[in-house]
Amino acid sequence: MTSLPLISVDPDARGRRPSMPPRHLADLDLPGRQALVTELGEPAFRAKQVSNHYFGRLVRDPERMTDLPAATRERLAGELLPTLLTPVRELACDDGATRKALWRLHDGSLVESVLMGYPDRVTVCISSQAGCGMACPFCATGQAGLTRNLSTAEIVDQAVYLAGVAASGAVSGSPPRLSHVVFMGMGEPLANYSRVVAAIRRLVAPAPEGLGLSQRHITVSTVGLVPAIRRLASEDLSVTLALSLHAPDDELRDELVPVNQRWKVSEVLDAAWDYAATTGRRVSIEYAMIKDVNDQPWRADLLGRLLAGKLAHVNLIPLNPTPGSRWDASPKPVEREFVRRLRDAGVSTTVRDTRGREIDGACGQLAAAGDTDGDSRAATA
Ligand code: SF4
Repeated sequence: MTSLPLISVDPDARGRRPSMPPRHLADLDLPGRQALVTELGEPAFRAKQVSNHYFGRLVRDPERMTDLPAATRERLAGELLPTLLTPVRELACDDGATRKALWRLHDGSLVESVLMGYPDRVTVCISSQAGCGMACPFCATGQAGLTRNLSTAEIVDQAVYLAGVAASGAVSGSPPRLSHVVFMGMGEPLANYSRVVAAIRRLVAPAPEGLGLSQRHITVSTVGLVPAIRRLASEDLSVTLALSLHAPDDELRDELVPVNQRWKVSEVLDAAWDYAATTGRRVSIEYAMIKDVNDQPWRADLLGRLLAGKLAHVNLIPLNPTPGSRWDASPKPVEREFVRRLRDAGVSTTVRDTRGREIDGACGQLAAAGDTDGDSRAATA
């Protein structure tokens, strides 16, 4: 969530019906891949070989899979690694440290991901749905509605693809290995629960089963689907939960985050604190700073009272308004006062950097995801 990707409508996609993509290796765990390969008449160990190319070596071109018999390479790659993401556009900014990728899916749906390099890490921000059904009024994605859920492999492939970009040295001034993944692109991850959890399992499984990332380097954002937060807490995963709060009071949050009409601030925060208690992970509270809407000193004080003493960290996100939007970012002095009041209440708070802001002028919230595991490289107000 917290994305503001603004994607122009693809004229070729009009009239097409959204549909799920073909099955891909990343949809399956290793035993599932072995069963599939056996069904295809190949020895089960081929599943590990292809998995090692895809996850371990970040290779998807069958010509480079020279440990597979030449006669079966194309067929196995065709069955296990169908093309899921076709790059439409790749844009770089921040002197090459940020790269935004726009993908066309097999049914013409468009989604985007952002790769962000830092001196000590590389983070990818990925989408979990094409569009979003949560209808947050300040978000361009929310205005367009939900097209469909992404498959597990469509989610994973964004990270694997961009891990390959990072490995090629394309992200200046950063290590070549992808280390962090944030689910803050298009969509509400917990509304596509089972596929997102399966994708997390692929991302953290060691190669050749998965990408081998640390669970602690994965962040899942949500607008506050309470039952799903509680379910995530029971998954035996220690990923970071990022709760997009955006308002500390129900009256405003009902408007800014319409799902609040179903689960109120107190219920959402209770679920977040239970998540923190179960996993031992500090919860990120995401708060887009919107001028004259949610940035008043009294709201900072109320937020401070709600969060004081909790295992939480606030990330204030300067809103990146879309062209023609009635929403604007809070002025810097207002932002600084908001930070001061939160810190005076004993709440750890940072202001996010706005990586990628110059790309399209519209991916601010997506790129602003940056890093949410609490020790972000965010500029501090
Ligand atoms: S949850 Fe809200 S802010 Fe996030 S993508 Fe959906 S509509 Fe936008």
